[in-house]
Amino acid sequence: MSYSFRCKDIGMNCGFEARADKQEELMPVIQAHAKGSHGINEITPDLMNKVKAAVKKA
Ligand SMILES: [Zn+2]
Repeated sequence: MSYSFRCKDIGMNCGFEARADKQEELMPVIQAHAKGSHGINEITPDLMNKVKAAVKKA
């Protein structure tokens, strides 16, 4: 099983996509992308919930 995340699923106009075997591995990748590409230095609990809801298991 793997987990995937698409930035546009949380309402961003962005083509970023991340994939990992574990959710714990996916989060740091998303965090780094949020910081590097969107200037989001801190993932708020609200944003974290949105991200988690957008993560798909495949
Ligand atoms: Zn993005």
